[in-house]
Amino acid sequence: MTDLPSHARAVIIGGGVIGCSTAYHLAKCGWRDIVLLERARLTSGSTFHAAGLVGQLRTSANITKLLTYSVELYDRLEAETGQATGWKRNGGLRLACNPERMTELLRQATTARSFGLAVEVLSPQEAAKLWPPMDGSDLVGAVFLPSDGQVNPSDLTQALAKGARMSGVRIFEDCAVSGIRTAGGRVAGVVTERGEIGCELVINCGGQWAKEIGRLAGVSVPLQSVQHQYLITEPIPGVPRDLPTLRDPDRLIYFKEEVGGLAMGGYEPNPIAWAVDGIPPGFHFTLLDSDWDHFEPMMEQALARVPALATAGVKQLVNGPESFTPDGNFILGEAPELRNFYVGAGFNAFGIASAGGAGKALAEWVAGGEPPMDLWPVDIRRFGRLHRDDHVVRQRTLEAYAKHYTIAFPHEEYESARGLRVSPLYHRLKDQGACFGSKLGWERPNWFARAGETPRDAYSFGRQNWFEAVGGEHRACREAVALFDQSSFAKFLMVGRDAEAALSWICANDVSRPVGSVVYTQMLNRRGGIECDLTVSRIDRDAYYIVTGTGFATHDFDWIARNIPQGQDARLLDVTSAYAVLALMGPRARDVLQQVTQDDVSNAAFPFAACRDIVVAGAAVRALRMTYVGELGWELHVPAESAGAVYDRLMQAGSRYGIANAGYRAIESLRLEKGYRAWAGDIGPDYTPLEAALGWAVKLRQDTPFLGREALVAQREKGLARRLAGFSVDDPSVVLLGRETIYRDGERVGWLSSGGWGYTAGRNVGFGYVRNEAGITDEYLAGGRYELEIATRRVPAALHLRPLYDPEMSRVKG
Ligand SMILES: Cc1cc2nc3c(=O)[nH]c(=O)nc-3n(C[C@H](O)[C@H](O)[C@H](O)COP(=O)(O)OP(=O)(O)OC[C@H]3O[C@@H](n4cnc5c(N)ncnc54)[C@H](O)[C@@H]3O)c2cc1C
Repeated sequence: MTDLPSHARAVIIGGGVIGCSTAYHLAKCGWRDIVLLERARLTSGSTFHAAGLVGQLRTSANITKLLTYSVELYDRLEAETGQATGWKRNGGLRLACNPERMTELLRQATTARSFGLAVEVLSPQEAAKLWPPMDGSDLVGAVFLPSDGQVNPSDLTQALAKGARMSGVRIFEDCAVSGIRTAGGRVAGVVTERGEIGCELVINCGGQWAKEIGRLAGVSVPLQSVQHQYLITEPIPGVPRDLPTLRDPDRLIYFKEEVGGLAMGGYEPNPIAWAVDGIPPGFHFTLLDSDWDHFEPMMEQALARVPALATAGVKQLVNGPESFTPDGNFILGEAPELRNFYVGAGFNAFGIASAGGAGKALAEWVAGGEPPMDLWPVDIRRFGRLHRDDHVVRQRTLEAYAKHYTIAFPHEEYESARGLRVSPLYHRLKDQGACFGSKLGWERPNWFARAGETPRDAYSFGRQNWFEAVGGEHRACREAVALFDQSSFAKFLMVGRDAEAALSWICANDVSRPVGSVVYTQMLNRRGGIECDLTVSRIDRDAYYIVTGTGFATHDFDWIARNIPQGQDARLLDVTSAYAVLALMGPRARDVLQQVTQDDVSNAAFPFAACRDIVVAGAAVRALRMTYVGELGWELHVPAESAGAVYDRLMQAGSRYGIANAGYRAIESLRLEKGYRAWAGDIGPDYTPLEAALGWAVKLRQDTPFLGREALVAQREKGLARRLAGFSVDDPSVVLLGRETIYRDGERVGWLSSGGWGYTAGRNVGFGYVRNEAGITDEYLAGGRYELEIATRRVPAALHLRPLYDPEMSRVKG
């Protein structure tokens, strides 16, 4: 095709596997008038040089679901389009060479089964039999996913392009996009060297160029190109055509069959960033020079695994750049900076495996105007302003790349790009033994080392070195009083004449309360799913103060801002940096607070769910009477410049009550016992408040319309098919982390959405949805016998429909 249309409904930029899959699926959604623009030729970016392994297992159920859909699509695409794809379902084998890796594999096997994937746990002998070229003498075991496979990336892309064309998509090659036109904060068109196309929306599937394309529109796409190599051998005797793909993470390498020989690549611990100053022009169907020195350690590992490689002829050492991201997950969704500008990029060397599902999800996101399901792990809104800095992105991305095959221990923290955002209390807490973790650039105290301990995590799959220290913090909060630095909370102001009306529409709970009220609420999507879980405090007639989790800053701001009804006078401002937050929690919290303020903090003057301005250490402090730990307490929002003085006064006054610093790991244990839900774990866009047993926080009894109401009403009438329940396991040798499978009377009915140790309960505590298509009632839940599968081992579990720690309400609210 030569003539560009002057207008299209959607323009997709990039003719790699992702752009073609998105075009294919958007057409399947019934969209017409779709144009795909490719700067050079289809597949000429990263796609043409991919190895083509298609693995499915990820740590998130929905991302695994996308990859499983890829496999289903690749099964039928050739028949549908008449274009060969080279797809074969030869299975995927993953090896373990030490006990800790085996534990990780067994946990992954349980996760796979939780998510409905078939997986087999194999002995070293069985693994070696399945993969004849290997020397398996060092194996501890392996797992096998029979439905994994491999595909020819270029053929797959051509098949998707053909399928897209068959549905009317127009594809233009040799047509680079050089500008994005915008009008009124929305996409209006694209500029190319062959003319302009006016359009309603743009989908940026530009692979490693997506960052530059985003910048044309003022959109941040945090990714970094990294060199990625694999070797292709001549045919090797004894390599069957149906050889499964093989991942050998302890040796940092992978293999697949390639025309009777092997392709072998890996993830070096010292990756090399590419095109730091920009991708050179004319880089299409181009490879980088083979870097044998850098590949040598991989080669040594491969030779030990496959001795026949020593004599095999080498065809090529492919060195291709691919875009990687700061957390190893791809980037999907509508950019928060510009309406109708969507991104599908940063595929971290699993873009071929992801293409089917990611293209479908992105197309459905475009067509429906919101994600078709919870896609938080890949949502573009998980990033923040700090990710506009290439240097920050590069540091963290290279670390994530290097960790691709290292054992993913629970609670592991990144070490690069640290110290970028710190609370005013950072140095005080550091001096007192704080061990920090990072979230969206913030340093946050995870736990406090006691005398003689080093504030550094020692990772394992068992109880980690901080276990006792966190127990002390937990008990201080339950028995006396603890102080948590939660300054990293995201804080917004909603102001304007219509602030109440706007928030009444967006919030599921009733926020039309008097000035001085704090309301815990969810914000729902049209499906009734929970998009945000936060507190809204009315601080004036026309002003609300909104507080949400650190990591949800971009997402929640975007959700609230985009749902303010048109024409209403309500503006949202981010005031995160203005306030430090000190959460003073525990039965002695009032005793401490009353000592440092002249304002009356008695229950009569300052009841639960109230918000008051009080003075502490000369500072005007916004105090919110709320709790996420199940104890009497206040969140003190302190002007940043006064945080140190307020902290010092509180610690001084609290010393006679046994006040202790406490961190995020203690919060996790405290909230698990008290049954408070965590967004992005227990609750999220796929689950409604009714399913999460949060119906009490929804204004269904009032007539007020609100976003998501119809879906909830319909669900209430129809009845629930799944419900969140609590579980506990007595055996202290068990470690719950989340994703363990739930069995009811021997049947798999769900998996844990979160889990941990409850120090007061003295037991493992977890939450998870129990599913039953025929309906879920309290009687059904209570009538079952439960087990949890942890690393393929089943243990008896008790079901709890009430929190494990449930003090008299007067303790919290009195
Ligand atoms: C060595 C290596 C091995 C790999 N092995 C595997 C594997 O085994 N399994 C797996 O799943 N993945 C693998 N991958 C990853 C996989 O190749 C990528 O994730 C995938 O190809 C990304 O596809 P994409 O469509 O996002 O990007 P690309 O294929 O790079 O497509 C982006 C397209 O956008 C075009 N473009 C750029 N700028 C413009 C513009 N301004 N206007 C118009 N068009 C533009 C480019 O020309 C390009 O064609 C591997 C990658 C490498 C490097």
